[in-house]
Amino acid sequence: MRTIMLGAPGSGKGTVATKLAVVYDIPHISTGDLFRHHIKEHTSLGKQAETYISAGKLVPDEVTIGMVAERLQESDCADGFILDGFPRTINQADSLDVLLAKDGRAIDLVINLMVSDETILSRISGRRVCASCGQIYNMKTQPSREDGICDLCGGSLTQRADDAPQTVLKRLETYRVQTEPLIEHYTEKELLLEIDNEHSSAITVQTIVAFLAGLH
Ligand code: ADP
Ligand code: ZN
Repeated sequence: MRTIMLGAPGSGKGTVATKLAVVYDIPHISTGDLFRHHIKEHTSLGKQAETYISAGKLVPDEVTIGMVAERLQESDCADGFILDGFPRTINQADSLDVLLAKDGRAIDLVINLMVSDETILSRISGRRVCASCGQIYNMKTQPSREDGICDLCGGSLTQRADDAPQTVLKRLETYRVQTEPLIEHYTEKELLLEIDNEHSSAITVQTIVAFLAGLH
């Protein structure tokens, strides 16, 4: 299964993709996570990406597409993958088609997660991430047992730098202008599945699994 998760920042792409990756035993590839890893390791790619990310802008396509192309060549992608946060522009979508076609591969499903603006803002403002293991919490809806401490590893919970309020507004604008056109793009290709992710990600995952089971 070769899938793309679409949706606004804070729509829950990462949470849903993580769960689907477990169900189907395929890698969850988040470009945001790949960039944050590069930034943490101070690589040259990380340095290039950081300025754009902290301004709420997209990292240039040349950098992003090259990084994803490399990742998709790895052997764990042979039986499928879930892309989270890529493509984010029509140009990225076209490049993805080209690079998959080289190995006779193609995308078979694009899942668009739908949530209200109000929910997006509340999810992002409450989001906390474990600095050690990356586990995601929400202060309001999914708090850790102990304030500021990860349940899984005891690491400390931090806010993503680009979750600061001004950057969030810029990210939402970037999404509307550059990424939202992909919804129509994939509708035209008859690949789009729209799912309400306003409430529980567990129900969203069940709905997707039931849909895919119905296809076979
Ligand atoms: P979210 O979906 O919540 O905005 P991500 O973790 O997916 O968060 O992305 C964080 C940031 O990384 C984005 O705001 C953007 O700057 C950069 N980024 C991620 N994926 C891409 C992409 N496909 N193209 C360009 N920039 C990207
Ligand atoms: Zn942790």
